[in-house]
Amino acid sequence: MCVAGIFYDTLCEENSMDKEVFQMSICPKNKSSKGHRDQRRANWKMSAPTLVKCSKCGSLMVPHRVCKNCGSYNKKQIVEAD
Ligand SMILES: [Zn+2]
Repeated sequence: MCVAGIFYDTLCEENSMDKEVFQMSICPKNKSSKGHRDQRRANWKMSAPTLVKCSKCGSLMVPHRVCKNCGSYNKKQIVEAD
């Protein structure tokens, strides 16, 4: 039994899940080797966040969020600036 199987009794009761379904869905059959694991993670890359210029103050801000510099959204004052 895998480590997660220790809690399956309580989990199955709470979620009214089938015992076999639970074990099938959560327990990997074999351990992944370090190489297999690292190959999978080799494609995880950092990406630069998308930033746009605020229409009111011109500072860089996350799109579709209130500007952190001036507190405006869609050229309207939404929250008080710091
Ligand atoms: Zn702004």
